[in-house]
Amino acid sequence: MIIAGADLGGTHLRVGLRRAGETRLLARRSLSADPTWTPAQVVEAVAAMLEALQPTGEPLAALGFGATGDIDPEGGACWSMRRFPGLEGAPLAALLTARLGVPVQLLNDGLCAALGELRAGAGQGARDFVMVTLGTGIGGGVVLDGRLVTAARGRVGKAGHMIVDWDGPVQPTCHCGLPGCWQALAARAGLLHRARELAAAHPESLLAAGSAGVDPTPEHIAEWAAAGDPAALAVWRETGRLVGVGLANLVKLFAPERVLIGGGLAAGHPELLRAARAEIERHAIKPYQRPDVLLAALGPDAGLLGATWAPEELASHHE
Ligand SMILES: [Zn+2]
Repeated sequence: MIIAGADLGGTHLRVGLRRAGETRLLARRSLSADPTWTPAQVVEAVAAMLEALQPTGEPLAALGFGATGDIDPEGGACWSMRRFPGLEGAPLAALLTARLGVPVQLLNDGLCAALGELRAGAGQGARDFVMVTLGTGIGGGVVLDGRLVTAARGRVGKAGHMIVDWDGPVQPTCHCGLPGCWQALAARAGLLHRARELAAAHPESLLAAGSAGVDPTPEHIAEWAAAGDPAALAVWRETGRLVGVGLANLVKLFAPERVLIGGGLAAGHPELLRAARAEIERHAIKPYQRPDVLLAALGPDAGLLGATWAPEELASHHE
């Protein structure tokens, strides 16, 4: 039995196949995502990639579809589709089912990533864990009693808008327009904002020299930190502290045995994870708030792989 997964991210639409009982993708395809896509165009793009991927002729049992946004797993529709305004409110699950002839389960991409880590990554064997993905924003999901929490129409576990700086600077602001959001301070824009501040404060640093006239990437800042530049290292350390403050709050809420950090920034520089761990430890109520804080294991595949388990996981919630 073959289960398909799809992952609609900011830049790419990816589709993969997994055989039931296995934990790796059999095959995959990727396509540049077009921000002007209509629902019909997304459906046709998924169908074309699935047809190209079906090498064995084995029938498809179901499709799990992960996407960024307020994705309603019960109603099968997409909301808050900032990157794909043409998909706002679209009943994508029904449209995909009509085209493909199989059950389709929609799920937010952060929840998919947590599900992937639960079944095939660093969440295996854990009864309770919290996963966050650090990238452009902060997504994630919560697993309690071995099950992905999908309450509140899939909006639970999206911790990026937690308030971690209630009276701090307005910049950088979150796309929600409200001040002090965790993802505005601890994800990519926050890291780059901190880099500009530290470059200005330390004109003698590699960070300042490398930032003159250009916007550095997180990869550049990691290289300068690795070369021993204290200002570049401080960018990762202070970002890691902010990551840790949010995670410490999640630890207090959910009492997980593990915390998983994934997404493109997570492994950007070891100082981020070190500082995040120290911050969690500093805020932990002793002795019971002692989660293992680990990098996620599946890298950029977590969401796509996790999507292949979405139909089974959500069906089990209704048993
Ligand atoms: Zn926000």
